[in-house]
Amino acid sequence: MRGPSPPRLWKYATGVLRLKKFFRSPGDGRPQPQIPARVLYWALLLGHLLRQFSFHSLEALVRSCARRALGLATSFSEDALAHFTERLDADATRRAAVGVLRRAKRNKAFQGSAFIGLALDGTSSGRSSRPHCAWCRASRNKQNQILGYHHRLAMISVVGTGLSLPFDVETYGPGASEYAAGQRLLRRAVANLGPRFADYVVVDGEFATAPFLHTTEELHLKVVARLKDNLPELRAAAQKRFDSQPPTLCFQEGQDQVQLWDAADFDPWGSLRWTSVRVLRYRQIKPNGEVIEAYWLTNFSAGRVGSRTLYRMAKSRWEIENQGFNEAKNQHGMEHICHHQTNSLLVQWLMLALALIIERLYRLRYLHRGTHRVRTAIELVRQLWLSLSARKAPDSS
Ligand SMILES: [Zn+2]
Repeated sequence: MRGPSPPRLWKYATGVLRLKKFFRSPGDGRPQPQIPARVLYWALLLGHLLRQFSFHSLEALVRSCARRALGLATSFSEDALAHFTERLDADATRRAAVGVLRRAKRNKAFQGSAFIGLALDGTSSGRSSRPHCAWCRASRNKQNQILGYHHRLAMISVVGTGLSLPFDVETYGPGASEYAAGQRLLRRAVANLGPRFADYVVVDGEFATAPFLHTTEELHLKVVARLKDNLPELRAAAQKRFDSQPPTLCFQEGQDQVQLWDAADFDPWGSLRWTSVRVLRYRQIKPNGEVIEAYWLTNFSAGRVGSRTLYRMAKSRWEIENQGFNEAKNQHGMEHICHHQTNSLLVQWLMLALALIIERLYRLRYLHRGTHRVRTAIELVRQLWLSLSARKAPDSS
C-alpha cells in the first residue's frame, strides 16, 4: 500500500512545493547548532499535522521507534525545540508560506474561482495564569479583576477559492489595537504576495473604518466589510431603504431560502473618500424559521460583481473563523503554549499556518488529482499515524 506517510509528505513539500532550500535554511538563529534546522523544523510541522504539537510529545515521538518512519535523522529534546524557536527568524517562515501560495496560484490551484479573497481577523490565543512575556494581556471581569492572561493576534488567510490557506499572523501586545495590527498585516501580506495576487479583502465590522478602507484601496484590493452599528447612519439608511423594497434577488441554498437587497448609491460617511457606497443585505431563512440577517458594504461595482457573488464573498469571511481559528485551535494546538517566549510563540503560530497550507494543498489538490476522492482531514491524520508502523521508510536526511 502506498498511502500518505510523513516521508511522502516531505517529498511533496520539498518537491512539488519546492520547500527543500527553505527547510535547509529556515532562518536558524542558533549560534552553534548541533541538530540540523531541517530536522527540528520538519518535526514541528509534523507535530501540527499529527496533532501531537507539544514539545514534550514531539520529544517522546522522536525518542520512540517511530522516529525513522517519521523521516527524522536524529532525536532531540524539548529544550532543543525551545532554543530553536526562540531564535528562528519569523519572516523566513512568512516568505516560505507566501512562496507556496504563489506557486499554488501558478499551478492553478484556485482556477475554479473567478475571484481570490483575503480574510483578515483577530483572535485570542495562549492563555496563562501569570504574565510571562511582553505580549501577555490581562483578561478582566466586570469588576476589573484580573482572571488570567492571553495573547492577541490578527491572522490573514486566502479565502473564497475552496481552499482556506492562512499564511501570516501579526501579534499585538497590551495597549495596541487589532485595527492597527490588521493594517500592518495586510500591508506586509500584499507586499509579500506581490500585486494582483488577490482581488478583494473581506473583514468584520471593526475594520469598516475609513483609514482601513483607504489602505485596501492603496493596495489595489477591493473590500467587502460587514456593516454594523459602528456606522449607525449608513446602517440606518440601508435598513430604511431595504425595508421599503422587495428583495433584489431570491434563491434557494441547500435547505435555506436566501433573500438579497443590493443598492450602490448610499452616501459615504464624513471621512470616507468614496463617491458612493454599495450595501448588500442578506436574509437567510432556515427551514425551522430562524432568520440570519447581515449588512455588508463594498466598493465592487454591480457590473463587476453581481449580488449573488457579493453574497458569497461576504460569506467567505467565515472561513477565517472556521477553517482558520477553529481548526487551528481545536485540532492543531494553536491555544497550547509550548514555550512561553515572544518569538517562540510567533514562529509557532506561523509554522502552524504553513502546516495547514501544506496539509490542505496535499489533501485537497495533490491526493485528489485524477479520480481520487477527497480525503477528510481526520482520514489523512489516521493514514499518517498508521504509516508509522510500516517496517521501512526512507530517511529525509
Ligand atoms: Zn505571554
